[in-house]
Amino acid sequence: MKVKLLKRRLALMAGSIIAAAGLMQAQQPQDFSKVEIHVLPVQGQVYMLVGSGGNMTVQAGKDGVFLVDTMYAPLADKIVAAIRTISKGPIRYIVDTHVHGDHTGGNEPMRKAGSTITGGNVSADIRDSAEGAQIIAHQNVLNRMSAPTGTQPPNPPAAWPTDTFLGDEKDVFFNDEGIQIIHIPNAHTDGDSIVFFRRSDVIATGDLFTTTNYPIIDTDRGGTINGFIAGLQKIVDMIIPVYGQEGGTMVVPGRGRLCDLGDVLEYREMTIIIRDRVQDMVSKGMTLDQVKAAKPTLDYDPLYGSASGFWTTDKFVEAVYKTLKKQDNKK
Ligand SMILES: [Zn+2]
Repeated sequence: MKVKLLKRRLALMAGSIIAAAGLMQAQQPQDFSKVEIHVLPVQGQVYMLVGSGGNMTVQAGKDGVFLVDTMYAPLADKIVAAIRTISKGPIRYIVDTHVHGDHTGGNEPMRKAGSTITGGNVSADIRDSAEGAQIIAHQNVLNRMSAPTGTQPPNPPAAWPTDTFLGDEKDVFFNDEGIQIIHIPNAHTDGDSIVFFRRSDVIATGDLFTTTNYPIIDTDRGGTINGFIAGLQKIVDMIIPVYGQEGGTMVVPGRGRLCDLGDVLEYREMTIIIRDRVQDMVSKGMTLDQVKAAKPTLDYDPLYGSASGFWTTDKFVEAVYKTLKKQDNKK
């Protein structure tokens, strides 16, 4: 058991180095020709791919390949090459953890690179068989991509999910493994799913958990701070460590390095503490500017804060304030 844990520690460390390299790339202007896709074995049948945009998760075995998220379209050839170092099998399934382009940008090329299983209890999917892998997502992801009320959909139909679900969960059995796709309502967006590989004992969280920044709450697409915390709580509840807070269930975050329970607990604690501070200020009737000036995140800023880039500390505080204020107004 000791050797196993040491191996896992080394994997976590390797993940940190690769994730740090990925973050540096993200801060520079996006030149996809310079992006490398790194493959990190996690455990069981599951691997983590780190490149640009959100981390990908790969499960591979005798039935083929199952993907969580697709990064960006220009990286598709490199992603397929990286997958081929793991398995030569066909890409059968893709799960979109949510709608954002850094997680779904490669949907169309990755779908074309795959092929859908036909026959058996999935015969309803035959119509898709000529077109590639199935893309599974919560219904709200399709709603956002296809914009049924608009004239110009934000994404081309070839990139849309082909198999959506409503409600709490969708299950798939693939490569001798039960895979749970669990919807978390109104958290990072309104269409978030986490993916649990039950036998490999790995959770892919999408952007409901990241190690590089404060919780990203997309309030324009249904995200809320309390939904986000409920999502982190769900992930914590699903993890079973070997002992204390280490080992056991491994967690592939939407951004950053491979994690275990200790990491998620710390992140959940930070998120709850800041939510409580801002809630207190909202209850006292403070304005957004007053809340920002009071710096409710100060002690965590060295770890997660940012003054520039796409998700600044200010934007985070604003999102927390906005969603709590909305709730407060309803009372
Ligand atoms: Zn996102």
